[in-house]
Amino acid sequence: MSGFEVSVEGLSKVYEVGGGVRLVALDNVSLFAGSGEALALMGPSGSGKSTLLHLIGAMDEASAGSIRVGEVEVTGLSRSKQPAYRRTVGFVFQRFHLLPALTVLDNVIAPVLPYRTPFDKKEEATKLLEAVGLYEKASTMPARLSGGQQQRVAIARALINDPGLLLADEPTGNLDTATGKEIMDLILRLRTERGMTVIVATHDPAVAARCDRIVSLRDGRVVSDDAAAGRRPGAGREDLEPGKDRKED
Ligand code: ADP
Ligand code: MG
Repeated sequence: MSGFEVSVEGLSKVYEVGGGVRLVALDNVSLFAGSGEALALMGPSGSGKSTLLHLIGAMDEASAGSIRVGEVEVTGLSRSKQPAYRRTVGFVFQRFHLLPALTVLDNVIAPVLPYRTPFDKKEEATKLLEAVGLYEKASTMPARLSGGQQQRVAIARALINDPGLLLADEPTGNLDTATGKEIMDLILRLRTERGMTVIVATHDPAVAARCDRIVSLRDGRVVSDDAAAGRRPGAGREDLEPGKDRKED
């Protein structure tokens, strides 16, 4: 699958935290990632990175604004259409989230276990383990692996549906610097091989610097976007302005 374009416009997310208190986690955020681009979403803890990834992945609902991923208007998806969309997006988390009772191979198969697939599940999972350098660990239990190895398994799992977009939330946050660098090497190599778009949330400038572009968030707002106006596809077009409806394309 080729990489999805990601277009976020005027996106806001407000949490009602009880007692009438509203917490604005995202405030009128707009950004764009081209097909096959690796975008870093940088910002300190609490700046809204995870919230933004959750919204892009349709794991939570926006309060305002729009998100388009490939051909899909994510913010307009009905509940019944969200699961099929989510299967076109891969997720990698800081804490790996492997299932401890399953072997490495079965962890990679887990996301597709309930579904019919156009490929042989075991064969595909084995290929992915090979691609992340863990072919020989297929029948090992996750607890026997190092943190870096567990994150490799999580990356293989995220790719089982051949996603057009990979969302990685602090993928190196639980790893030492050298291992974190290896994980970024792997993510960026897989991006190039598969053509998928990648968005990596991180508070680590060294991790962000590995990506093609950096968008910085602070208190739920974009404070910098190093896509110069001329580099941004469609830049300068009226209809790309935040908050405007652009359903026609
Ligand atoms: P980051 O990933 O950059 O650390 P988050 O997206 O997790 O930031 O959080 C952004 C803000 O939204 C923070 O102030 C956080 O406390 C708040 N927040 C996140 N999730 C929730 C939630 N489910 N309910 C209430 N507030 C939340
Ligand atoms: Mg976070």
